[in-house]
Amino acid sequence: MSAFGAVDVRVERISASRLPSFDLGASVFGSEMSDHMLVADFARGAWGEARIVPHGPMPLVPGISALQYGLSVFEGMKAHRSPSGEVLLFRPELNAQRLVRSAERLALPPLPPERFLAWLRALLDIDAAWVPPGDRGALYIRPCLFSIDASIRVKPAEACRFVMFTFPFANYYSASIDVYATERYVRAFPGGTGDIKPAGNYAAALLAEREAAAAGCQSALWLDGLTRTQVEECGVMNVFFVIDGQVFTPPLGGTILPGVTRDSVITLLRDQGVTVHEVALSIEEVARAFDRGALEECFGTGTAATVSHIRRIRWRDRDFILPPVEQRRIAPKVKESLVAIMTGKARDPHEWVVRL
Ligand code: PMP
Repeated sequence: MSAFGAVDVRVERISASRLPSFDLGASVFGSEMSDHMLVADFARGAWGEARIVPHGPMPLVPGISALQYGLSVFEGMKAHRSPSGEVLLFRPELNAQRLVRSAERLALPPLPPERFLAWLRALLDIDAAWVPPGDRGALYIRPCLFSIDASIRVKPAEACRFVMFTFPFANYYSASIDVYATERYVRAFPGGTGDIKPAGNYAAALLAEREAAAAGCQSALWLDGLTRTQVEECGVMNVFFVIDGQVFTPPLGGTILPGVTRDSVITLLRDQGVTVHEVALSIEEVARAFDRGALEECFGTGTAATVSHIRRIRWRDRDFILPPVEQRRIAPKVKESLVAIMTGKARDPHEWVVRL
């Protein structure tokens, strides 16, 4: 009996798998896809059956409101292979629920989580061989849902498509990153879409990322949209600070994406006896902590890198250079615990891992 129940899916297999010619070491993130993708349409008030077909182009007319007005939402998640060879998912129900919230906010028909999970399982069953060995990498999973209405009128979607595809990527050595606190661009504002994953959020962030790059940084550090004083997120990650041995992260209040990694890191830190405050933190407070030598660590959390250590924060004409990663005690430890659970190498006290 599967963890996600039975499901009807029509399958058209690829004639010859591309896996034998795939080189995990040489592949650039997201450049080469696994053999199959899953496609399902919503029309006349109901989701139709899912089709698993060889990955490839889909014909779409140019007027669809996903292209014209950004009626499009997505998720990002990973599958790992355990030391005994099983395929493991990490808290996939949270991605399923977040996709529902994203869809509802853009007036798109939500995909019921049971169906999302059953379809995910069906796709991974077919392409299980694409999940790399646990010590070498993971399979990235990209579900997306968008309107295929071609009416040109701006209106809630009636016809939608759900597509899910996957690709393997190698563990990469992730150097710590520098971040740029932007006061020019904002990512989110109260009543907006900062706490969901519409495609448009990511398009609107690109100039800030370019501004950060011009300052020699790899990511924007987002401040709140109203006052541009409170720290909110970092690039496409949630952000954490360690000050005087305690952890601070902005609270979820409508402008911050409720990250699966964020929630897991907070839980594991508390398990480890670390005090975690989910409180608003201004960039001025960060500066003051730095000035008195109390800013010990800063890191981002997200599906792709799990935990990214931050080396430098640039704000106005100031650089806050943080202690080297070797001297950090909190983020490296929680990262190790989280990765060990995700890859099936450690006990899973919160029952987060779902085996296929
Ligand atoms: N914030 C933003 C803006 C993101 O795009 C992501 C990636 N989904 C995250 C935070 C981290 O979320 P998660 O841990 O669920 O990947």
